[in-house]
Amino acid sequence: MGHGMKVSAAAVCIAVAAIGCSGGNGSTPTSAYAPGAPTAPSVDPSWLPEATVGTAPLVLIAPHGGDLSPASLPDRNCAGCSTVNDLNTQELARLVADAFERRTGRRPHLVINRLHRRKFDANRDLAEATGGYASLDTVWRAFQGSIDSARARVGRSNGRGLVIDLHGHGHEVARLELGYLLTDATLRLTDSALTARGELARTSIARLAIDRVSGATPIALLRGTASLGALLVAAGYPSVPSPADLAPKAGELYFEGGYNTDRHGSLLGGPTDAIQIECNLEGVRDTADNRTRFADALAAALERLLRDQYGWRP
Ligand SMILES: [Zn+2]
Repeated sequence: MGHGMKVSAAAVCIAVAAIGCSGGNGSTPTSAYAPGAPTAPSVDPSWLPEATVGTAPLVLIAPHGGDLSPASLPDRNCAGCSTVNDLNTQELARLVADAFERRTGRRPHLVINRLHRRKFDANRDLAEATGGYASLDTVWRAFQGSIDSARARVGRSNGRGLVIDLHGHGHEVARLELGYLLTDATLRLTDSALTARGELARTSIARLAIDRVSGATPIALLRGTASLGALLVAAGYPSVPSPADLAPKAGELYFEGGYNTDRHGSLLGGPTDAIQIECNLEGVRDTADNRTRFADALAAALERLLRDQYGWRP
């Protein structure tokens, strides 16, 4: 729905510091293409992310729902890296943006990667994202630069806001996995242990836990009554962490957040917090009806979170 303005060449040149954030799997990219090699073909404009400027302090990003797989691009061949897409998450991100705008009259910023994950991974650092294929450097800088620009706009217009990094998982337990950069083992600590160890300062919502606009405790913001998990559970979507499900059990698979959550959250300050939402398939993103219903519920939860914990008024 709604074709986004393509990122201009100027936007591509936004200075993007190649910070060494985590989020990869430690594999070493290998490629037959030397960076900057003259044989590397130029970037087709269709490979660039779709980035639309919004009016709300919310940035929605969909890194793993790209549907373009051009034959002129080599497959990523980094050892052990994942090349599997997160089914229907591009569509879901658009639906959430539409639902949020219908509810509030304000549109989120939306940044969508268009390339299939076998060609490009938009939730990794530059080397692993591109598999070392130099032509994709421009795509990576456009994707990350578009999010940086959206965050800066949120900072200028609202002071504070939130990045939602939308994914899909295939883990056994059917629930939303909310990633704040804390591992499953850390989440299994008691509330008092998490507080005593200062773990909230190591999350992608570190500033939210300091600001405490509503007076809610940092733990309540992470997995208590003031958390996104609580709002989603109340809407009928099991979520971890949440008051109903404080942490994954030992042995259960869980995604704690990756490169984008790390880079665009408030671990090191900045205007936006970030939360990775890993969606289970059935009942959430499998059918058009389920996607529409979940998008409405997520938009409502995000509006409530922005009102209650960021003091936002549309
Ligand atoms: Zn993903």
